[in-house]
Amino acid sequence: MLSRIDLRGRTLGTAELRRTLPRGAADVDSVVDTVRPVVEAIREHGAFAALDYGEEFDRVRPTSVRVPAEVITEAGETLDPDVRAALVEAIRRARIVHSAQRRSDTVTEVAAGGFVTEKWVPVERVGLYVPGGKAVYPSSVIMNVVPAQVAGVGSLVVASPPQADSGGWPHPTILGACALLGVDEVWAVGGAQAVALLAHGGEDTDGRELEPVDMVTGPGNVYVTAAKRLCRSVVGIDSEAGPTEIAVLADHTADPVHIAYDLISQAEHDPNAASVLVTDSEQLADAVDREVEARYTVTLNADRVREALEGPQSGIVLVDDIDAGLRVVDAYAAEHLEVQTRDSAADAARVRNAGAIFVGAYSPVPLGDYAAGSNHVLPTSGTARHSSGLSVQTFLRGIHVIDYDRAALKEIAPTVVALADAERLPAHGEAVRARFEDLTAAEEEQ
Ligand code: NAD
Repeated sequence: MLSRIDLRGRTLGTAELRRTLPRGAADVDSVVDTVRPVVEAIREHGAFAALDYGEEFDRVRPTSVRVPAEVITEAGETLDPDVRAALVEAIRRARIVHSAQRRSDTVTEVAAGGFVTEKWVPVERVGLYVPGGKAVYPSSVIMNVVPAQVAGVGSLVVASPPQADSGGWPHPTILGACALLGVDEVWAVGGAQAVALLAHGGEDTDGRELEPVDMVTGPGNVYVTAAKRLCRSVVGIDSEAGPTEIAVLADHTADPVHIAYDLISQAEHDPNAASVLVTDSEQLADAVDREVEARYTVTLNADRVREALEGPQSGIVLVDDIDAGLRVVDAYAAEHLEVQTRDSAADAARVRNAGAIFVGAYSPVPLGDYAAGSNHVLPTSGTARHSSGLSVQTFLRGIHVIDYDRAALKEIAPTVVALADAERLPAHGEAVRARFEDLTAAEEEQ
């Protein structure tokens, strides 16, 4: 059922390779024009427009955007015990990994008396998007909130689509995860309207202000991702973490059943999800195809899986050898890349472009989706070539603090003046000289 691209015996340049590899038709560009009026309406009419769009897309209208505190508390208290235990363990592992990422300030004495400090300061207020359209993602609460909290973000709000069967509030498991993490501000708004409302703020139905945020992070479908792209002049964003992708680089040593399950598991996120196998073994390709065909029909989200696997974004790419496979996966720059080869660790170490790399048979992507401790908010559509997944660093700004004393400035003054003159910006040089003009001869000596 997976289409095939045979690159054996062909050496393509990067641009041609990128054009040849499977990519979705419903990409972010294709929905930007659909999303633009939504963003405009939210900018003009705020929460009321957001609730109108909720009614249209999510078929429910909560009484307010802000979820009442008692609803969040109750969701925390009524979490299913098994789900609670799983969330607690996932949070624990995510905290271990993300706490280790926290950078400390760097103080450099560049010359005697001349210091430059790089100071890491958290973003003040962030909006964390948690998807809730076709599936609900309490795991994305963890993946957003933990790094933001570890970074020291003072004010955070979670936004997630209203659910018709939860009285218009976000799904109770999402609210329960918020309660476990101590998040007390949650908005019942999803899609592009959520991103726009987080960016612009507005007045809620009860007259209370919905304060805008400085940065929006989190995964979502193409509409969410397009809105992040449109709002990025108003707020910071993390990366374009759109419909999920898995690429598997495998040779004949890999287990086709494992690979089939892994391809199906990502396809169940979204009909726009991409599942790609890159292999130098035609035998493995045939076996994976058979296993996918045999297994997907009995999974809960079979229709969505079929649509995703049969779409132009999914397929099997045949290559001459694993070196050629590595060139393909680097050109593709998958959100998730599994490496299942004879020497997975060595081959994985050679990968340059991927959102996250899963090494060997016992590190499947669903482990990273939930409980590896790593972050699952990852760049898609090839943006892993230049962007990283969500991390503590996303929520920090590095501010340089320059602190030179008089002697240190005097020592470097001729350099500043020379460069200012070379740029024909003499006032720059004069600003430095002015500090030494009234010096006595004795002071000049010092
Ligand atoms: P979602 O919350 O992202 O989107 C639901 C919202 O989309 C709805 O509230 C609605 O407002 C909007 N919408 C639906 N149809 C629309 C239309 N025709 N026009 C305008 N807006 C519309 O939830 P979802 O749909 O389940 O998607 C979740 C996505 O998140 C999946 O694609 C999944 O693969 C992705 N994901 C990505 C990552 C990552 O890190 N890249 C991680 C987890 C999930």
